[in-house]
Amino acid sequence: AKELGRNNFAFFSAEMSVNATERLGMLSRLRNALQRNEFLLHYQPKVCLKTGRLVGAEALLRWHNGSHGPIPPGRFIPLAEESGLIVEIGEWVLRSACRQAVAWQRAGAPPLPIAVNLSPRQLLRDDLLDVVEQALRDTGLDPACLELEITETVIMRDVEKSLHTLHRLKQLGIGIAIDDFGTGYSSLNYLKRLPVDKLKIDRSFVSDITTDPDDAAITRAVISLAHILNLKVVAEGVETEAQHRFLLENGCDEVQGYYFGKPMAHQDFAALLA
Ligand code: C2E
Ligand code: CA
Ligand code: CA
Ligand code: CA
Repeated sequence: AKELGRNNFAFFSAEMSVNATERLGMLSRLRNALQRNEFLLHYQPKVCLKTGRLVGAEALLRWHNGSHGPIPPGRFIPLAEESGLIVEIGEWVLRSACRQAVAWQRAGAPPLPIAVNLSPRQLLRDDLLDVVEQALRDTGLDPACLELEITETVIMRDVEKSLHTLHRLKQLGIGIAIDDFGTGYSSLNYLKRLPVDKLKIDRSFVSDITTDPDDAAITRAVISLAHILNLKVVAEGVETEAQHRFLLENGCDEVQGYYFGKPMAHQDFAALLA
């Protein structure tokens, strides 16, 4: 499943059709989750490799359903995406993350960027710009403190439209990162034209960098490529000291992973900021 990538539709649809009843039940619970206040965000630290300092956070969605308990994003995000519910949920995520970032800053934290995952459906909608601008305006967050993570697969699906949207987002002053880099079909030709700031090397490569020479070579190549294109490069899913050392020695800029901190509740992240 590694090569398929976790955002692959066909993969999840096939898996889920095995249990259509369960899927329908989850869909109806998902429809009510927003009104019932069942969502919350966790925040995972992003760390600068050279200095070891905290340089940002990624907001990750969590769902605690009353009778079913915590349901992992890998199970409900694909369903939210397929059903279109992700548009409304994604807007909630965006606004909540912006609000939280402002709250941390008001409490005295330095203005670190907060990263929000944008689903394919959100990126392809015509009102995305308005939604983002509105969230920034309503919460008072500086656009420079917002970063959007977008998978390469969705960009490649409609390159011209994505380019247009990304340019407009950049004009607002927002940072843009390509998520899960290496798992999709990116064309180097387009990568050059994309107004992005960062590449995030997918965890599937990082997890084997110290044991699999191919993954080590791919990771080194992505780091070089990013730097040639003047992009920062972030490695996700760093779990061990050995992976950390490899990335440091090979010039990776930022890291994220259990080795530095798991996604955590906002109170715990505030403690890190202090
Ligand atoms: P992602 O954007 O690639 O997020 C990174 C995932 O890797 C997160 O899983 C995070 O908890 C996990 N992770 C981070 N460090 C490590 C590590 O060292 N080891 C391991 N094993 N895992 C690590 P999570 O929170 O379960 O989210 C899974 C995916 O669900 C995300 O992948 C993203 O595609 C999606 N997702 C999560 N929140 C949102 C959201 O608000 N909106 C959208 N559209 N998608 C979201
Ligand atoms: Ca992400
Ligand atoms: Ca990823
Ligand atoms: Ca491998």
